[in-house]
Amino acid sequence: MSYLDYNATAPIRPEAAAAVIEAMQTVGNASSMHQPGRRAAHRVDLARRQLADLLNCSPGEIIFTSGATEANNLALRAAYTAGSPLITSSVEHPAVLETARTVTAERPEDLVLLPVGADGLVDLHALEQVFAARSGGVVSLMAANNETGVLTDLRVAAKAAREAGALLHTDATQMIGRLPVDVSELDVDLLSLSAHKFGGPQGVGALYVRRGTSLPHRPLLVGGGQERGWRAGTLNVAGIIGLGAAADAARRRLGEEAKRVATLRNRLESLLTDALPECRINGRRDQRLPGVSSITFPGVPADAVLAAMPDVAASEGSACASGAPTPSHVLLAMGLTRDDADSTIRFSLGYATTDAEIEYAAQAVVRAVTQVGSALAAADG
Ligand code: PMP
Repeated sequence: MSYLDYNATAPIRPEAAAAVIEAMQTVGNASSMHQPGRRAAHRVDLARRQLADLLNCSPGEIIFTSGATEANNLALRAAYTAGSPLITSSVEHPAVLETARTVTAERPEDLVLLPVGADGLVDLHALEQVFAARSGGVVSLMAANNETGVLTDLRVAAKAAREAGALLHTDATQMIGRLPVDVSELDVDLLSLSAHKFGGPQGVGALYVRRGTSLPHRPLLVGGGQERGWRAGTLNVAGIIGLGAAADAARRRLGEEAKRVATLRNRLESLLTDALPECRINGRRDQRLPGVSSITFPGVPADAVLAAMPDVAASEGSACASGAPTPSHVLLAMGLTRDDADSTIRFSLGYATTDAEIEYAAQAVVRAVTQVGSALAAADG
């Protein structure tokens, strides 16, 4: 078995699993005043501090959510004001794109989608052009793309947003725990993340809101007033503790893991391009996450290749979109044809990927692509 689908979900880190199990065996509502409640609240405080240390922010700037989807919804619903622009890109995750479409439904002219180049980089000159005509509003750009791993130069986006009086939100779900993210250095106002992408449990995440950001109070959930009224509901104490433990482990090992993972990814790419010279790597090679490789095998449908190697876990386009018969909006936006988009596989590696998994996967992919390609050629002939 070779698990190369870290962008869909990463295996839970042992420290996080142990913390979750221990927390689930301990009673306590973090809002209760008695001793078990205080103990739970104290552990949530520690997790908030662990996440703040990973992001280089203060614990009071974090709102725990059920994941990045909720964080993106919360951020954009609060930051968008009708009549001001909501600027995002054509390659965002559906959790941003669908939220952006929903909140601007009555004023579609407020929604601006920045294009990307053939290398997957968001066109930040287009952002400056938008601001030449309009100012204010909110910009939402992903830190790293989930399908190609291509990184956005957030500092450039932040400068343009700052000068135009706009807020900057980033969906950093794929970057957190894989590359260093320092929110003050990046100069972002809002940042979304999900624990299961960096070795925490599924179903828990956070929204960072820079102190002093002026946001109308528009929570998605109202009720008991938890998370300073931004996210009502009993806290997911075990999930939050697991998120904290994963953040702590990721922070300690980030540099070393990123180097090791990049070496493994490069090894996979060279094994595949040597054996299958017609395959193409998508996205800007020198501005990508260390663990992601999006590869097109022209003329060979990705679904057939994946079905021919069930013991290699990789993905066709993005996991959220697979199952649906539509090709990847990310690859189409980069100018790939529909056929090429349908012939693309995303491999994503992470902290626990081994050399053996890479060697195994490379052999399996070469075998499967060759097999599927010859079967198609025989059927055509
Ligand atoms: N944004 C990005 C870039 C993602 O890759 C994902 C997960 N596929 C999400 C948001 C949503 O995360 P979750 O499903 O954990 O809410």
